[in-house]
Amino acid sequence: MSKSYACGPSQTPLLGDTVGESLDRAVAAHPDREAVVDVAAGLRWTYAEFGAEVDRAARALMAAGVAKGERVGIWSPNRAEWTLVQYATARIGAVLVNINPAYRASELEYVLGQAGIRMLIAAQEHKGSDYRRMAEQARAAAPALRETVFFDDASWDRLLAGAERVSGAELAERSALLSADDPINIQYTSGTTGFPKGATLSHHNIVNNGFFVGELLGYTEQDRICLPVPFYHCFGMVMGNLAATTHGACTVIPSPAFDPAAALAAVAAERATSLYGVPTMFVAELGLPDFASYDLSSLRTGIMAGSPCPVEIMKRVVAEMRMSQVAICYGMTETSPVSTQTRVDDDLERRTATVGRVMPHVEVKVVDPATGTVVPRGEAGELCTRGYSVMLGYWDEPERTAEVIDAARWMHTGDLAVMREDGYVSIVGRIKDMVIRGGENVYPREVEEFLHTHPKVADVQVVGVPDATYGEELLACVLPADPADPPSREELAAFCEGRLAHYKIPRHVRAVESFPMTVSGKVRKVELRAWAAQELGLA
Ligand code: AMP
Repeated sequence: MSKSYACGPSQTPLLGDTVGESLDRAVAAHPDREAVVDVAAGLRWTYAEFGAEVDRAARALMAAGVAKGERVGIWSPNRAEWTLVQYATARIGAVLVNINPAYRASELEYVLGQAGIRMLIAAQEHKGSDYRRMAEQARAAAPALRETVFFDDASWDRLLAGAERVSGAELAERSALLSADDPINIQYTSGTTGFPKGATLSHHNIVNNGFFVGELLGYTEQDRICLPVPFYHCFGMVMGNLAATTHGACTVIPSPAFDPAAALAAVAAERATSLYGVPTMFVAELGLPDFASYDLSSLRTGIMAGSPCPVEIMKRVVAEMRMSQVAICYGMTETSPVSTQTRVDDDLERRTATVGRVMPHVEVKVVDPATGTVVPRGEAGELCTRGYSVMLGYWDEPERTAEVIDAARWMHTGDLAVMREDGYVSIVGRIKDMVIRGGENVYPREVEEFLHTHPKVADVQVVGVPDATYGEELLACVLPADPADPPSREELAAFCEGRLAHYKIPRHVRAVESFPMTVSGKVRKVELRAWAAQELGLA
Protein backbone atom coordinates (compact mmCIF):
# COMPACT_ATOMS: atom_id res chain seq x y z
CA MET A 1 0.00 0.00 0.00
CA SER A 2 1.63 3.27 -1.04
CA LYS A 3 1.62 6.30 1.17
CA SER A 4 -0.28 9.52 0.55
CA TYR A 5 2.80 11.47 -0.50
CA ALA A 6 3.54 12.85 -3.95
CA CYS A 7 6.11 15.17 -5.49
CA GLY A 8 5.58 16.77 -8.88
CA PRO A 9 8.35 15.84 -11.32
CA SER A 10 9.25 18.30 -14.06
CA GLN A 11 11.65 18.72 -16.96
CA THR A 12 11.13 22.46 -16.64
CA PRO A 13 13.19 24.15 -13.94
CA LEU A 14 11.83 26.72 -11.52
CA LEU A 15 12.34 30.34 -12.56
CA GLY A 16 14.76 32.51 -10.62
CA ASP A 17 13.30 35.80 -11.84
CA THR A 18 11.83 38.63 -9.85
CA VAL A 19 8.42 39.80 -11.10
CA GLY A 20 10.16 42.69 -12.89
CA GLU A 21 12.71 40.47 -14.64
CA SER A 22 9.96 38.11 -15.70
CA LEU A 23 8.01 41.00 -17.23
CA ASP A 24 11.17 42.27 -18.99
CA ARG A 25 11.48 38.92 -20.75
CA ALA A 26 7.90 39.08 -22.01
CA VAL A 27 8.33 42.66 -23.22
CA ALA A 28 11.53 41.74 -25.08
CA ALA A 29 10.05 38.59 -26.61
CA HIS A 30 6.56 39.86 -27.54
CA PRO A 31 6.65 43.69 -27.76
CA ASP A 32 3.81 43.96 -30.27
CA ARG A 33 1.43 41.40 -28.81
CA GLU A 34 -1.39 42.59 -26.58
CA ALA A 35 -0.72 42.29 -22.86
CA VAL A 36 -3.79 43.82 -21.19
CA VAL A 37 -7.26 44.66 -22.49
CA ASP A 38 -9.68 46.48 -20.17
CA VAL A 39 -13.05 46.15 -21.88
CA ALA A 40 -15.01 48.55 -19.64
CA ALA A 41 -12.38 51.28 -19.99
CA GLY A 42 -11.80 50.64 -23.71
CA LEU A 43 -8.08 50.41 -23.00
CA ARG A 44 -5.47 48.15 -24.64
CA TRP A 45 -1.78 47.85 -24.02
CA THR A 46 0.74 45.83 -26.02
CA TYR A 47 3.64 44.36 -24.06
CA ALA A 48 5.85 47.26 -25.17
CA GLU A 49 3.24 49.77 -24.02
CA PHE A 50 2.53 47.91 -20.81
CA GLY A 51 6.25 47.68 -20.02
CA ALA A 52 6.61 51.44 -20.56
CA GLU A 53 3.54 52.19 -18.39
CA VAL A 54 4.88 49.95 -15.63
CA ASP A 55 8.25 51.72 -15.74
CA ARG A 56 6.59 55.12 -15.55
CA ALA A 57 4.40 54.10 -12.59
CA ALA A 58 7.46 52.53 -10.90
CA ARG A 59 9.45 55.77 -11.29
CA ALA A 60 6.43 57.69 -10.02
CA LEU A 61 6.29 55.56 -6.86
CA MET A 62 10.01 56.15 -6.33
CA ALA A 63 9.49 59.89 -6.79
CA ALA A 64 6.77 59.72 -4.12
CA GLY A 65 9.41 58.31 -1.78
CA VAL A 66 8.29 54.66 -1.66
CA ALA A 67 11.30 52.62 -0.52
CA LYS A 68 12.10 48.96 -1.04
CA GLY A 69 10.08 46.83 1.40
CA GLU A 70 7.51 49.57 2.14
CA ARG A 71 3.86 48.58 1.78
CA VAL A 72 1.54 49.99 -0.85
CA GLY A 73 -2.13 49.04 -0.46
CA ILE A 74 -4.51 48.63 -3.38
CA TRP A 75 -8.24 48.77 -2.76
CA SER A 76 -10.07 48.66 -6.03
CA PRO A 77 -12.18 46.44 -8.23
CA ASN A 78 -10.53 45.06 -11.37
CA ARG A 79 -9.18 47.52 -13.91
CA ALA A 80 -6.02 47.83 -16.03
CA GLU A 81 -4.39 50.12 -13.46
CA TRP A 82 -4.66 47.37 -10.84
CA THR A 83 -2.30 45.28 -12.97
CA LEU A 84 -0.13 48.33 -13.54
CA VAL A 85 0.24 48.90 -9.79
CA GLN A 86 0.94 45.18 -9.25
CA TYR A 87 3.95 45.24 -11.59
CA ALA A 88 5.13 48.77 -10.74
CA THR A 89 5.33 48.04 -7.02
CA ALA A 90 7.14 44.75 -7.77
CA ARG A 91 9.65 46.61 -9.97
CA ILE A 92 10.74 48.85 -7.12
CA GLY A 93 10.51 46.17 -4.42
CA ALA A 94 7.52 47.70 -2.65
CA VAL A 95 5.20 45.14 -1.06
CA LEU A 96 1.75 45.27 -2.62
CA VAL A 97 -1.05 44.74 -0.11
CA ASN A 98 -4.24 43.48 -1.75
CA ILE A 99 -7.33 44.84 -0.04
CA ASN A 100 -10.66 43.16 -0.80
CA PRO A 101 -12.99 45.67 -2.53
CA ALA A 102 -15.79 44.34 -0.32
CA TYR A 103 -13.95 45.45 2.82
CA ARG A 104 -15.56 48.20 4.83
CA ALA A 105 -14.14 50.78 7.21
CA SER A 106 -13.33 48.51 10.16
CA GLU A 107 -11.58 45.89 7.98
CA LEU A 108 -9.72 48.57 6.02
CA GLU A 109 -8.57 50.17 9.23
CA TYR A 110 -7.23 46.83 10.43
CA VAL A 111 -5.14 46.06 7.35
CA LEU A 112 -3.82 49.62 7.02
CA GLY A 113 -2.51 49.37 10.54
CA GLN A 114 -1.41 45.74 10.56
CA ALA A 115 0.60 45.95 7.34
CA GLY A 116 1.85 49.45 8.13
CA ILE A 117 0.69 50.68 4.73
CA ARG A 118 2.53 53.80 3.58
CA MET A 119 0.56 54.57 0.45
CA LEU A 120 -3.01 53.56 -0.35
CA ILE A 121 -4.13 53.49 -3.97
CA ALA A 122 -7.90 53.20 -4.19
CA ALA A 123 -10.97 53.46 -6.34
CA GLN A 124 -13.24 56.36 -5.41
CA GLU A 125 -16.33 54.27 -5.08
CA HIS A 126 -17.62 50.83 -5.96
CA LYS A 127 -21.18 49.50 -6.08
CA GLY A 128 -22.47 52.53 -4.27
CA SER A 129 -19.97 52.51 -1.42
CA ASP A 130 -17.96 55.60 -0.86
CA TYR A 131 -14.29 54.57 -0.64
CA ARG A 132 -13.15 58.15 -0.11
CA ARG A 133 -15.20 58.50 3.04
CA MET A 134 -14.16 55.11 4.39
CA ALA A 135 -10.49 55.81 3.63
CA GLU A 136 -10.80 59.11 5.45
CA GLN A 137 -12.41 57.38 8.47
CA ALA A 138 -9.74 54.69 8.60
CA ARG A 139 -6.83 57.11 8.30
CA ALA A 140 -6.84 58.11 11.93
CA ALA A 141 -5.95 54.53 12.89
CA ALA A 142 -3.13 54.21 10.36
CA PRO A 143 -0.07 56.10 11.57
CA ALA A 144 2.18 54.79 8.77
CA LEU A 145 -0.16 56.01 6.03
CA ARG A 146 1.33 59.08 4.37
CA GLU A 147 -0.55 59.31 1.12
CA THR A 148 -3.85 58.19 -0.39
CA VAL A 149 -4.20 58.25 -4.15
CA PHE A 150 -7.49 57.72 -5.99
CA PHE A 151 -7.94 56.44 -9.52
CA ASP A 152 -9.71 58.79 -11.97
CA ASP A 153 -8.64 61.72 -9.85
CA ALA A 154 -6.02 64.49 -9.85
CA SER A 155 -4.11 62.63 -7.13
CA TRP A 156 -3.44 59.72 -9.54
CA ASP A 157 -2.35 62.08 -12.33
CA ARG A 158 -0.11 63.91 -9.87
CA LEU A 159 1.47 60.66 -8.74
CA LEU A 160 2.22 59.59 -12.34
CA ALA A 161 3.54 63.05 -13.26
CA GLY A 162 6.20 62.62 -10.58
CA ALA A 163 7.86 59.97 -12.80
CA GLU A 164 9.76 62.79 -14.52
CA ARG A 165 11.83 63.31 -11.40
CA VAL A 166 13.30 59.78 -11.48
CA SER A 167 15.46 58.53 -14.32
CA GLY A 168 15.46 55.13 -15.98
CA ALA A 169 18.97 54.61 -14.59
CA GLU A 170 17.72 55.22 -11.04
CA LEU A 171 14.93 52.71 -11.58
CA ALA A 172 17.43 50.16 -12.90
CA GLU A 173 19.60 50.76 -9.85
CA ARG A 174 16.63 50.06 -7.59
CA SER A 175 15.64 46.92 -9.52
CA ALA A 176 19.19 45.62 -9.16
CA LEU A 177 18.76 45.65 -5.37
CA LEU A 178 15.87 43.18 -5.44
CA SER A 179 16.03 39.46 -4.74
CA ALA A 180 13.46 36.91 -5.90
CA ASP A 181 13.10 35.80 -2.28
CA ASP A 182 12.03 39.23 -1.02
CA PRO A 183 8.42 39.62 0.12
CA ILE A 184 6.48 41.36 -2.62
CA ASN A 185 2.82 40.79 -1.83
CA ILE A 186 0.56 40.53 1.20
CA GLN A 187 -2.88 39.00 0.82
CA TYR A 188 -5.26 39.00 3.73
CA THR A 189 -7.13 35.81 4.38
CA SER A 190 -9.68 35.38 7.13
CA GLY A 191 -8.28 33.77 10.24
CA THR A 192 -9.89 31.02 12.28
CA THR A 193 -9.54 33.35 15.21
CA GLY A 194 -10.07 37.04 15.18
CA PHE A 195 -8.61 39.28 12.53
CA PRO A 196 -7.51 38.41 9.00
CA LYS A 197 -3.92 37.23 8.53
CA GLY A 198 -1.57 38.69 5.92
CA ALA A 199 -0.14 35.83 3.88
CA THR A 200 3.20 37.19 2.70
CA LEU A 201 4.44 35.97 -0.68
CA SER A 202 7.78 36.42 -2.45
CA HIS A 203 8.53 37.06 -6.14
CA HIS A 204 9.67 33.42 -6.28
CA ASN A 205 6.37 32.17 -4.83
CA ILE A 206 4.07 33.93 -7.26
CA VAL A 207 6.17 34.05 -10.44
CA ASN A 208 6.60 30.28 -10.35
CA ASN A 209 3.05 29.45 -9.35
CA GLY A 210 1.67 31.64 -12.13
CA PHE A 211 4.17 30.16 -14.58
CA PHE A 212 3.38 26.52 -13.80
CA VAL A 213 -0.39 27.05 -13.77
CA GLY A 214 0.04 28.47 -17.28
CA GLU A 215 2.39 25.64 -18.31
CA LEU A 216 -0.17 23.02 -17.33
CA LEU A 217 -2.82 24.84 -19.38
CA GLY A 218 -0.47 24.94 -22.37
CA TYR A 219 -0.37 28.74 -22.52
CA THR A 220 1.60 30.49 -25.26
CA GLU A 221 1.65 34.06 -26.56
CA GLN A 222 -1.43 33.07 -28.62
CA ASP A 223 -3.62 32.79 -25.51
CA ARG A 224 -6.11 35.41 -24.36
CA ILE A 225 -7.36 34.93 -20.83
CA CYS A 226 -10.71 36.37 -19.75
CA LEU A 227 -10.57 37.22 -16.02
CA PRO A 228 -13.88 37.84 -14.26
CA VAL A 229 -12.18 36.80 -10.99
CA PRO A 230 -10.91 39.46 -8.61
CA PHE A 231 -7.32 40.70 -8.79
CA TYR A 232 -7.16 41.16 -5.01
CA HIS A 233 -7.09 37.35 -4.82
CA CYS A 234 -4.35 35.04 -6.18
CA PHE A 235 -6.89 33.71 -8.66
CA GLY A 236 -6.70 37.01 -10.55
CA MET A 237 -3.21 38.34 -9.93
CA VAL A 238 -1.22 35.07 -9.94
CA MET A 239 -3.19 32.41 -11.84
CA GLY A 240 -4.36 35.16 -14.20
CA ASN A 241 -1.87 38.01 -14.54
CA LEU A 242 1.36 36.15 -13.81
CA ALA A 243 0.35 33.05 -15.76
CA ALA A 244 -0.20 35.41 -18.70
CA THR A 245 2.92 37.57 -18.48
CA THR A 246 5.21 34.54 -17.97
CA HIS A 247 3.92 33.22 -21.33
CA GLY A 248 3.48 36.45 -23.30
CA ALA A 249 -0.29 35.87 -23.22
CA CYS A 250 -2.95 38.58 -22.94
CA THR A 251 -5.34 39.24 -20.05
CA VAL A 252 -8.83 40.48 -20.81
CA ILE A 253 -10.65 42.30 -17.99
CA PRO A 254 -14.35 41.98 -18.81
CA SER A 255 -15.72 44.23 -16.05
CA PRO A 256 -14.68 45.78 -12.72
CA ALA A 257 -16.70 43.23 -10.71
CA PHE A 258 -18.18 39.93 -11.81
CA ASP A 259 -20.97 40.29 -14.33
CA PRO A 260 -21.87 37.08 -16.19
CA ALA A 261 -23.08 38.81 -19.35
CA ALA A 262 -19.99 41.05 -19.51
CA ALA A 263 -17.74 38.01 -19.10
CA LEU A 264 -19.31 36.13 -22.01
CA ALA A 265 -19.48 39.26 -24.16
CA ALA A 266 -15.74 39.81 -23.56
CA VAL A 267 -14.95 36.20 -24.48
CA ALA A 268 -16.82 36.66 -27.75
CA ALA A 269 -15.52 40.12 -28.67
CA GLU A 270 -11.90 39.48 -27.66
CA ARG A 271 -11.77 35.86 -28.91
CA ALA A 272 -10.63 34.64 -25.50
CA THR A 273 -9.08 31.18 -25.39
CA SER A 274 -9.38 30.78 -21.62
CA LEU A 275 -11.98 31.73 -19.00
CA TYR A 276 -11.68 31.62 -15.21
CA GLY A 277 -14.21 31.45 -12.42
CA VAL A 278 -15.36 29.95 -9.17
CA PRO A 279 -18.15 27.40 -9.75
CA THR A 280 -20.90 29.92 -8.92
CA MET A 281 -19.64 32.22 -11.70
CA PHE A 282 -19.94 29.46 -14.28
CA VAL A 283 -23.42 28.67 -12.92
CA ALA A 284 -24.43 32.32 -13.45
CA GLU A 285 -22.99 32.39 -16.99
CA LEU A 286 -24.68 29.14 -18.00
CA GLY A 287 -27.91 30.46 -16.50
CA LEU A 288 -28.07 33.61 -18.64
CA PRO A 289 -31.34 33.63 -20.61
CA ASP A 290 -29.43 34.58 -23.78
CA PHE A 291 -26.52 32.19 -23.10
CA ALA A 292 -26.84 30.55 -26.53
CA SER A 293 -26.35 33.87 -28.31
CA TYR A 294 -22.70 34.32 -27.23
CA ASP A 295 -20.03 33.08 -29.62
CA LEU A 296 -17.73 31.09 -27.35
CA SER A 297 -16.03 29.18 -30.15
CA SER A 298 -12.61 30.69 -29.35
CA LEU A 299 -12.50 29.05 -25.89
CA ARG A 300 -10.15 26.13 -25.36
CA THR A 301 -9.32 26.10 -21.67
CA GLY A 302 -9.83 27.85 -18.37
CA ILE A 303 -9.84 27.29 -14.64
CA MET A 304 -12.53 26.48 -12.15
CA ALA A 305 -11.35 26.68 -8.55
CA GLY A 306 -12.08 27.89 -5.07
CA SER A 307 -14.75 25.42 -4.03
CA PRO A 308 -15.98 22.00 -5.16
CA CYS A 309 -17.30 21.86 -8.72
CA PRO A 310 -20.65 20.13 -9.29
CA VAL A 311 -20.44 17.41 -11.99
CA GLU A 312 -23.31 18.82 -14.03
CA ILE A 313 -21.67 22.22 -14.23
CA MET A 314 -18.38 20.71 -15.38
CA LYS A 315 -20.20 18.76 -18.10
CA ARG A 316 -21.89 21.91 -19.37
CA VAL A 317 -18.70 23.97 -19.24
CA VAL A 318 -16.98 21.37 -21.43
CA ALA A 319 -19.89 20.81 -23.81
CA GLU A 320 -21.65 24.16 -24.04
CA MET A 321 -18.81 26.58 -23.33
CA ARG A 322 -16.42 24.48 -25.42
CA MET A 323 -13.77 24.51 -22.73
CA SER A 324 -12.57 20.99 -23.50
CA GLN A 325 -9.28 21.62 -21.67
CA VAL A 326 -10.70 23.32 -18.56
CA ALA A 327 -8.76 22.59 -15.36
CA ILE A 328 -9.67 22.33 -11.71
CA CYS A 329 -7.16 23.94 -9.38
CA TYR A 330 -6.93 23.48 -5.66
CA GLY A 331 -4.91 25.60 -3.32
CA MET A 332 -4.94 28.43 -0.86
CA THR A 333 -3.50 31.93 -0.61
CA GLU A 334 -0.77 30.66 1.74
CA THR A 335 0.54 28.41 -1.07
CA SER A 336 0.63 31.06 -3.78
CA PRO A 337 -2.06 29.53 -4.34
CA VAL A 338 -2.15 26.32 -6.44
CA SER A 339 -0.96 22.95 -5.08
CA THR A 340 -2.87 20.50 -7.30
CA GLN A 341 -4.32 20.88 -10.77
CA THR A 342 -6.02 18.60 -13.28
CA ARG A 343 -4.24 18.20 -16.61
CA VAL A 344 -5.72 19.26 -19.94
CA ASP A 345 -6.17 15.65 -21.07
CA ASP A 346 -7.79 14.37 -17.88
CA ASP A 347 -11.16 12.68 -18.27
CA LEU A 348 -14.41 13.99 -16.81
CA GLU A 349 -14.18 11.69 -13.81
CA ARG A 350 -10.82 13.11 -12.73
CA ARG A 351 -12.02 16.63 -13.45
CA THR A 352 -15.05 16.31 -11.20
CA ALA A 353 -14.21 13.73 -8.54
CA THR A 354 -10.74 15.19 -7.87
CA VAL A 355 -8.85 18.48 -7.76
CA GLY A 356 -6.03 17.05 -9.85
CA ARG A 357 -2.56 15.94 -8.90
CA VAL A 358 0.40 17.70 -7.43
CA MET A 359 1.96 20.64 -9.32
CA PRO A 360 5.52 20.43 -10.72
CA HIS A 361 8.20 20.95 -8.02
CA VAL A 362 5.59 20.83 -5.23
CA GLU A 363 5.12 18.12 -2.59
CA VAL A 364 1.81 17.16 -1.01
CA LYS A 365 1.00 14.60 1.64
CA VAL A 366 -2.08 13.57 3.59
CA VAL A 367 -1.60 13.07 7.31
CA ASP A 368 -3.59 11.82 10.25
CA PRO A 369 -4.39 15.11 12.01
CA ALA A 370 -4.07 13.49 15.42
CA THR A 371 -0.65 11.86 14.96
CA GLY A 372 0.86 13.68 11.97
CA THR A 373 1.78 10.41 10.26
CA VAL A 374 1.17 9.97 6.55
CA VAL A 375 -1.97 7.89 5.88
CA PRO A 376 -2.17 5.15 3.23
CA ARG A 377 -3.58 6.16 -0.16
CA GLY A 378 -7.35 6.07 -0.15
CA GLU A 379 -7.64 7.24 3.46
CA ALA A 380 -8.72 10.72 4.52
CA GLY A 381 -6.52 13.12 6.46
CA GLU A 382 -5.23 16.69 6.45
CA LEU A 383 -3.58 17.83 3.25
CA CYS A 384 -0.16 19.43 3.66
CA THR A 385 1.92 21.23 1.02
CA ARG A 386 5.66 21.89 0.84
CA GLY A 387 7.89 23.55 -1.70
CA TYR A 388 8.67 26.80 -3.45
CA SER A 389 5.01 27.86 -3.20
CA VAL A 390 4.68 27.98 0.58
CA MET A 391 4.39 31.58 1.78
CA LEU A 392 7.14 33.33 3.74
CA GLY A 393 4.70 33.62 6.64
CA TYR A 394 1.89 35.77 8.00
CA TRP A 395 2.97 39.39 8.05
CA ASP A 396 4.34 40.31 11.45
CA GLU A 397 2.70 37.29 13.12
CA PRO A 398 5.34 34.60 13.73
CA GLU A 399 3.13 32.76 16.21
CA ARG A 400 0.23 32.38 13.81
CA THR A 401 2.73 31.33 11.11
CA ALA A 402 4.09 28.62 13.41
CA GLU A 403 0.54 27.30 13.87
CA VAL A 404 0.32 26.41 10.17
CA ILE A 405 3.90 25.85 8.92
CA ASP A 406 5.73 23.12 10.84
CA ALA A 407 9.45 22.67 11.47
CA ALA A 408 9.87 20.62 8.28
CA ARG A 409 8.31 23.52 6.32
CA TRP A 410 5.00 21.80 5.58
CA MET A 411 1.99 24.09 5.28
CA HIS A 412 -1.00 22.50 7.04
CA THR A 413 -3.98 23.47 4.93
CA GLY A 414 -6.82 22.57 7.28
CA ASP A 415 -8.47 20.78 4.35
CA LEU A 416 -9.41 17.10 4.55
CA ALA A 417 -8.31 15.15 1.51
CA VAL A 418 -7.91 11.67 0.08
CA MET A 419 -5.04 10.80 -2.26
CA ARG A 420 -5.96 8.01 -4.65
CA GLU A 421 -3.66 5.29 -5.97
CA ASP A 422 -3.22 7.31 -9.18
CA GLY A 423 -2.01 10.30 -7.15
CA TYR A 424 -5.14 12.37 -7.78
CA VAL A 425 -6.47 14.18 -4.73
CA SER A 426 -10.06 14.72 -3.60
CA ILE A 427 -11.06 17.34 -1.07
CA VAL A 428 -13.56 15.74 1.29
CA GLY A 429 -14.05 18.34 4.00
CA ARG A 430 -12.50 20.99 6.17
CA ILE A 431 -10.97 20.70 9.59
CA LYS A 432 -11.28 24.42 9.99
CA ASP A 433 -14.84 25.63 10.24
CA MET A 434 -14.51 28.10 7.41
CA VAL A 435 -17.59 28.81 5.29
CA ILE A 436 -17.24 29.40 1.55
CA ARG A 437 -20.01 31.69 0.35
CA GLY A 438 -19.99 32.14 -3.42
CA GLY A 439 -16.20 31.75 -3.52
CA GLU A 440 -15.55 34.16 -0.63
CA ASN A 441 -14.11 32.54 2.48
CA VAL A 442 -15.65 33.51 5.77
CA TYR A 443 -14.23 32.49 9.10
CA PRO A 444 -17.19 32.43 11.50
CA ARG A 445 -15.01 33.65 14.34
CA GLU A 446 -14.48 37.03 12.72
CA VAL A 447 -18.23 37.56 12.25
CA GLU A 448 -18.96 36.26 15.75
CA GLU A 449 -16.56 38.72 17.30
CA PHE A 450 -18.19 41.56 15.47
CA LEU A 451 -21.74 40.48 16.42
CA HIS A 452 -20.62 40.23 20.02
CA THR A 453 -20.43 44.01 20.06
CA HIS A 454 -24.21 44.26 19.55
CA PRO A 455 -25.98 45.04 22.85
CA LYS A 456 -28.72 42.45 22.31
CA VAL A 457 -26.21 39.63 21.75
CA ALA A 458 -25.03 37.69 24.81
CA ASP A 459 -23.30 35.00 22.79
CA VAL A 460 -23.32 33.96 19.18
CA GLN A 461 -22.18 31.11 16.97
CA VAL A 462 -21.99 31.47 13.22
CA VAL A 463 -22.18 28.42 10.94
CA GLY A 464 -22.54 27.76 7.22
CA VAL A 465 -25.81 26.29 5.93
CA PRO A 466 -26.47 24.96 2.42
CA ASP A 467 -27.65 27.49 -0.15
CA ALA A 468 -28.69 26.86 -3.74
CA THR A 469 -27.15 30.05 -5.11
CA TYR A 470 -24.01 30.59 -3.05
CA GLY A 471 -23.19 27.03 -2.00
CA GLU A 472 -23.28 28.14 1.62
CA GLU A 473 -24.82 31.02 3.54
CA LEU A 474 -24.18 32.25 7.06
CA LEU A 475 -26.50 31.54 9.95
CA ALA A 476 -26.01 33.35 13.24
CA CYS A 477 -27.32 31.41 16.26
CA VAL A 478 -27.80 34.07 18.90
CA LEU A 479 -28.11 33.68 22.63
CA PRO A 480 -30.01 36.91 23.32
CA ALA A 481 -29.05 39.17 26.22
CA ASP A 482 -32.78 39.41 26.99
CA PRO A 483 -34.62 36.24 25.91
CA ALA A 484 -37.82 38.29 25.62
CA ASP A 485 -36.19 40.62 23.11
CA PRO A 486 -33.91 38.74 20.71
CA PRO A 487 -32.32 40.74 17.88
CA SER A 488 -33.97 40.28 14.50
CA ARG A 489 -32.17 39.45 11.29
CA GLU A 490 -32.85 42.98 10.04
CA GLU A 491 -31.42 44.55 13.17
CA LEU A 492 -28.19 42.57 12.92
CA ALA A 493 -27.92 43.20 9.19
CA ALA A 494 -28.34 46.94 9.73
CA PHE A 495 -25.68 46.78 12.46
CA CYS A 496 -23.21 45.11 10.08
CA GLU A 497 -24.05 47.21 7.04
CA GLY A 498 -21.15 49.40 5.98
CA ARG A 499 -18.90 47.93 8.67
CA LEU A 500 -18.51 44.35 7.49
CA ALA A 501 -18.12 43.16 3.91
CA HIS A 502 -21.56 42.23 2.54
CA TYR A 503 -20.72 38.53 2.18
CA LYS A 504 -19.98 38.27 5.91
CA ILE A 505 -23.42 39.55 6.94
CA PRO A 506 -25.50 36.56 8.15
CA ARG A 507 -28.35 35.71 5.87
CA HIS A 508 -30.19 33.84 8.62
CA VAL A 509 -30.54 34.57 12.33
CA ARG A 510 -32.02 32.23 14.95
CA ALA A 511 -32.36 32.82 18.68
CA VAL A 512 -31.29 29.83 20.78
CA GLU A 513 -31.28 28.98 24.49
CA SER A 514 -27.95 27.18 24.49
CA PHE A 515 -25.30 25.67 22.22
CA PRO A 516 -24.34 22.00 21.95
CA MET A 517 -21.04 21.69 23.82
CA THR A 518 -18.20 19.18 24.11
CA VAL A 519 -17.04 18.06 27.55
CA SER A 520 -14.11 20.40 27.28
CA GLY A 521 -16.54 23.27 26.82
CA LYS A 522 -16.10 23.78 23.07
CA VAL A 523 -19.16 24.46 20.97
CA ARG A 524 -19.90 21.51 18.71
CA LYS A 525 -20.14 23.34 15.43
CA VAL A 526 -20.81 20.21 13.39
CA GLU A 527 -23.86 19.44 15.51
CA LEU A 528 -24.99 23.04 15.44
CA ARG A 529 -24.70 23.09 11.66
CA ALA A 530 -26.77 19.91 11.34
CA TRP A 531 -29.42 21.29 13.69
CA ALA A 532 -29.50 24.60 11.84
CA ALA A 533 -29.91 23.00 8.43
CA GLN A 534 -32.81 20.97 9.85
CA GLU A 535 -34.35 23.99 11.55
CA LEU A 536 -34.19 26.06 8.34
CA GLY A 537 -35.49 23.16 6.27
CA LEU A 538 -32.25 23.02 4.29
CA ALA A 539 -30.93 19.62 5.32
P1 AMP B 1 -8.16 30.96 -0.44
O1 AMP B 1 -7.04 31.14 0.53
O2 AMP B 1 -9.11 32.10 -0.48
O3 AMP B 1 -7.63 30.66 -1.80
O4 AMP B 1 -9.05 29.71 0.03
C1 AMP B 1 -8.48 28.45 0.13
C2 AMP B 1 -9.49 27.40 0.52
O5 AMP B 1 -10.51 27.24 -0.49
C3 AMP B 1 -8.85 26.04 0.61
O6 AMP B 1 -8.20 25.83 1.85
C4 AMP B 1 -10.04 25.11 0.38
O7 AMP B 1 -10.77 24.93 1.59
C5 AMP B 1 -10.90 25.87 -0.60
N1 AMP B 1 -10.66 25.43 -2.00
C6 AMP B 1 -9.84 25.98 -2.91
N2 AMP B 1 -9.89 25.36 -4.09
C7 AMP B 1 -10.77 24.34 -3.96
C8 AMP B 1 -11.27 23.32 -4.84
N3 AMP B 1 -10.88 23.22 -6.11
N4 AMP B 1 -12.17 22.45 -4.33
C9 AMP B 1 -12.57 22.53 -3.04
N5 AMP B 1 -12.16 23.48 -2.17
C10 AMP B 1 -11.26 24.38 -2.61
